[in-house]
Amino acid sequence: MKMQLAEIARAVDAENDVSQWAEVEISSVEFDTRKLEPGALFVPLEGTRDGHDFVQNAVQKGAAATLWQTGHADLPTNIPVVVVADPLKAFQKLARYYLLKVNPKVVAITGSNGKTTTKDMTAAILKTQFNVHKTQENFNNEIGVPMTILGMETNTEVLVVEMGMDRPGQLDFLSKLVQPDVAVITMIGEAHIEFFGTRAKIADAKMEITHGLKEDGELVYNGDEPLLNERVTDLKQQQRTFGSLQTNTLYPTQIESGKTATNFKVNLWPDTEFSIPMMGAYNVNNALAAMLVAKHFHVKQSDMQSALAHFALTENRTEWYHGKNDADILSDVYNANPTAMREVLRTFSQMPTDGKRIAVLGDMLELGDESKPLHESIARVLDPEKIQIVYLYGTEMKALADKLANLYAPENVRYYPEGQQGVMIESLLKTIQPGDLVVLKASHGMHLENVLAALQ
Ligand code: ATP
Ligand code: MG
Repeated sequence: MKMQLAEIARAVDAENDVSQWAEVEISSVEFDTRKLEPGALFVPLEGTRDGHDFVQNAVQKGAAATLWQTGHADLPTNIPVVVVADPLKAFQKLARYYLLKVNPKVVAITGSNGKTTTKDMTAAILKTQFNVHKTQENFNNEIGVPMTILGMETNTEVLVVEMGMDRPGQLDFLSKLVQPDVAVITMIGEAHIEFFGTRAKIADAKMEITHGLKEDGELVYNGDEPLLNERVTDLKQQQRTFGSLQTNTLYPTQIESGKTATNFKVNLWPDTEFSIPMMGAYNVNNALAAMLVAKHFHVKQSDMQSALAHFALTENRTEWYHGKNDADILSDVYNANPTAMREVLRTFSQMPTDGKRIAVLGDMLELGDESKPLHESIARVLDPEKIQIVYLYGTEMKALADKLANLYAPENVRYYPEGQQGVMIESLLKTIQPGDLVVLKASHGMHLENVLAALQ
């Protein structure tokens, strides 16, 4: 990006006269002084500390100018200053201004799970034909989305943004900020149910992604979800759906799950074999969403096929390790919610092995009043024929242990309360045999990474 300070001051409704610095060149926008590059406009945001405290830090790192909140004490004199009522709002306004200036097509992606994966797949496919800019890492909130916009090159043709939400109103704001040409809802799960109370309310909040959808835009959503089908009836924009049901616009006709890749075929292009370099039938859904977005932009299926086959995840949370006793370990220990846990277990149940399949599951946190039924819901995907031994760890997992009592032989469901991780590891080391497959999944707070370390 390249903008002069006068232009920026106009875009953010500056309250001071910046004419003395009108021609100062700004080449980036940054709120984190650790990442600040010379020539940046620094944005002091309210974090655990007041961002204004870091302005001198920014000066040292070569910031070209800074925003400054009206009336804040210690107005600096050694750096050009743009005074605004609210630096966060000014930052968002500047993002909106820059978005209109670059004017790319915009794809906005939300959903309880699969946002980042779908975002990366979508960007990888669109890159075969367009200059694409996408959300970096997981910058998906009211700071991350403007940051994503301001990080675009001026020649960007399609912007792919991930949008997270943990309360009503958030997607309304983000959607109106970016005004997407295509909005995507990957799925409705139970993340943040503690706050929302019901999945229906989560669905309502996800639908806010359509509030800024352009009139000639399109909604791509998971048509297996009745809560979404019910909610799109009044929507004027075009809709396309993906999912496993044959009522969807795009659905898989065949899925072949491997340890590190998944092959599939789809109804719309029956002769093409698609492959993604990752496990999990749920990732086929993410790929279908990305393919419908690509279809909106008239990308050929052969380009979809090659981009999907070669794409790399921003952050792969599901990884295979070779463990002690010659077992293979599938580790997914950095977050967990009921849908994701069920999906991982469904996939794990299909993994070929000559030995046993062993699941090691820890508490899923932040589920509020629904915690007990949601932990019990994992029983739906546990079949003693497919996953022979289940280790359960943590206070909340007691509910699942009780639920499994009439499904599994008692010796094959091993429950450990919090604090007993060491005892569980000892038992695992005695149980695991060559050829076994082990899956580890829990919220990060349960620290199953220690179990992974002990098993390696
Ligand atoms: P976050 O809210 O943390 O940003 P996200 O929505 O971006 O998450 P991803 O990073 O793509 O999601 O995937 C996180 C995990 O969610 C995966 O490791 C997998 O366990 C699960 N997951 C991904 N896609 C789906 C899906 N379509 N359905 C169910 N679970 C999924
Ligand atoms: Mg994400």
